Amino acid sequence: MANIAFIGLGNMGGPMAANLVKAGHKVTAFDLVAASRDQAKADGAGIADSAVGSVKGADVVVTMLPAGKHVLSVWTDIIPSMTKGRLIIDCSTIDVESAKAAHALAAKHGVNSIDAPVSGGTGGAKGATLTFMCGGDDKAFAAAKPVLENMGKKIVHCGGAGAGQAAKICNNMILGISMIAVSEAFALAEKLGLSHKALFDVASTSSGQCWSLTSYCPVPGPVPTSPANNDYKPGFASALMVKDLTLAQDAAQAAGAATPLGKHAQEIYKAFDAAGNGGVDFSGIIRHVRGLAGR
Ligand code: NAD
Repeated sequence: MANIAFIGLGNMGGPMAANLVKAGHKVTAFDLVAASRDQAKADGAGIADSAVGSVKGADVVVTMLPAGKHVLSVWTDIIPSMTKGRLIIDCSTIDVESAKAAHALAAKHGVNSIDAPVSGGTGGAKGATLTFMCGGDDKAFAAAKPVLENMGKKIVHCGGAGAGQAAKICNNMILGISMIAVSEAFALAEKLGLSHKALFDVASTSSGQCWSLTSYCPVPGPVPTSPANNDYKPGFASALMVKDLTLAQDAAQAAGAATPLGKHAQEIYKAFDAAGNGGVDFSGIIRHVRGLAGR
């Protein structure tokens, strides 16, 4: 079992750190927020009084932070205190350029590194069923995999530095676009007098089939577990969808890729968010789509 430092104990990081404790690792945790530190202590982790303090003697360091600027700032502080040849894993969703810069910081100090953003949300974090999308060299991936297996059920090596973040934003761009497409189809069906059930029964077994329809249907009824049946409580909040679509647009611009539907999806989710719906599940976009009628 390893000595693991865990920094960033929020909605995702808190339960992920708890799963590392459950797997038998010695976890030393840190977060800026006292209540998160208290929860980690109750879950069985040791608590450090700073990020730098948490990494002393650690075999593996895991960070789960809001955005690229937080990751770069924390990594800049802690990496000089890590032992050469050890491993640092960032599970946050951040921009590809910051992820690459973070890998470069680690390499400069002889520390192995992996970017490993996740899919699966808070339910996956609690249930240790996350999917990890990993970027980094083979040696770092081989070291990271057994640690990540304590927090997830599918661990994919996507390529070199930043490839995990690239996979994450490409996947979530598909998700954002497809949820709007499915919502538009239901909004049109309503105007045409076609029942939700009829559209679902046809499209779920036809060429319109996709995850946004069959696993996360934006109208109540056809998929009982979807947030539509629970007044669109997240789930995956619209504010996080805006974040991921914005990361995709930034990456597309930097790389010179054409993503017209990704851009439009970003604009639609931004408008939904700006109307006070950032905390609403992203499938609640169907309400916004209905509201566009006749404008
Ligand atoms: P969160 O805001 O709940 O948690 C982030 C934590 O980082 C907070 O507790 C904050 O206090 C802490 N933090 C910030 N700066 C710090 C610092 N300098 N030192 C120590 N701690 C610091 O966010 P979350 O929902 O846990 O998400 C974390 C990451 O995972 C984000 O990048 C998010 O995009 C990604 N993600 C979230 C979900 C989800 O459903 N919540 C799903 C997939 C990916």
